[in-house]
Amino acid sequence: MGGVALVCWSLMDRRSFLALAGMPVLAMADPLNAYAETYVKLVLAAGQHDPDYVDAYYGPAAWKESAAREARPRAEIRSAAQALLERLTATPAGAGPLLRLRHRYLLLQTRSLEQRLELLDGAKMSFDQESQALYDAVAPALPAGHFEPALAALEKLIPGAAPLAERYEAWQKQFIIPAEKLDTVFRAAVDEARARTLRHIRLPQGESFTIEYVKGQVWSAYNWYKGNAHSLIQVNTDLPVEAGNAVSLAAHEGYPGHHVYNALLEDRLVRRRGWMEFTVYPLYSPQSLIAEGSAEHGVELAFPAEERIAFYEQVLFPRAGLAPVRAREYQTVKDTVSKLAHAPNQAARDYLDGRIDRPACQAYLTRYALLPPARAAQRVRFIEKNRAYVINYNLGQDLVRSYLQRRGGDPWTEFEQLLSSPRLPSGLTS
Ligand SMILES: [Zn+2]
Repeated sequence: MGGVALVCWSLMDRRSFLALAGMPVLAMADPLNAYAETYVKLVLAAGQHDPDYVDAYYGPAAWKESAAREARPRAEIRSAAQALLERLTATPAGAGPLLRLRHRYLLLQTRSLEQRLELLDGAKMSFDQESQALYDAVAPALPAGHFEPALAALEKLIPGAAPLAERYEAWQKQFIIPAEKLDTVFRAAVDEARARTLRHIRLPQGESFTIEYVKGQVWSAYNWYKGNAHSLIQVNTDLPVEAGNAVSLAAHEGYPGHHVYNALLEDRLVRRRGWMEFTVYPLYSPQSLIAEGSAEHGVELAFPAEERIAFYEQVLFPRAGLAPVRAREYQTVKDTVSKLAHAPNQAARDYLDGRIDRPACQAYLTRYALLPPARAAQRVRFIEKNRAYVINYNLGQDLVRSYLQRRGGDPWTEFEQLLSSPRLPSGLTS
């Protein structure tokens, strides 16, 4: 994003970009490469109409400059996307599983782009229609009763007379990282997450990240991928950060989550194969379900429950000034709360489909996701801004987890393969 574009790529087109990356010229003969270039330029053009759409871009700077200069009208971008879809449909997928995945990736990502523009033009879609159109998946509709067993378990784990959400909030406050210790604790969590990932996944040489603390955002943390295996990880300090969140954010945003996913796509697909479509990451697209789902799964992969408890006891809680003896209780409660992960989907679906209003949406999040009022309000703002995007976290995690279980091999090897390939949500279930 923005000001951290790499100067050495600024005047390059695709050919010199690939030459720098050591790409064989033969790679350019594949007809899909021309379509990939068209796709990237359409994403950049769509980004002119939607400031959040282009989440990351590290391809030739000239393409981005042209998109800004040309400022193509939405109708023109849409018809160009439709034309690209027709050409892709008429093109054979190629031999081998990776080439078939690439072909399907370009098709589904382009279709999603066309649908996103249709939404910007005022098309009406239900929550489920939108999630299918943009993210290639629909979250299951769950009745409120689905969450009752977890809520009943929490009633026992955090006993008292006040409403459960209030008790849970008071309980959580005991595990807040003091502001002056946040950087030390978060860095310890990232170091641990990175070390655990490097035991299993070979990352590009020189991969790196920087951390920034920010305010006034609808998210808790964000990974801005800059290309050249570098990420900027921002942590939002509007609301206090809990000890466990330091670990989940470190794994989700960094290792083996977003930073690793982006670095592997860049290394394996852009630099080794010249597949330029991966130099751009459109936020409201099927790729986001894979990104968020794998980042969420990455937390449990890098920190299985017992190992996470040990890390809390030995490193994190002492550095945060918390009592290590409470680490097991902390993890037990959090594991139970994780069974409420789908509640935000229900709240978002009912709210965006007009069945409940804003206060009811917030109340649902407090009742069934146990979000304290301030956090529930933050989540409602997130839902208003990003709409069906919420399914990417919980449904994404479920789909990635069950896909890896079905594959049955070594979980880290399978995970690395998923992160290095153009697989999209419907490809996890079919
Ligand atoms: Zn994320």
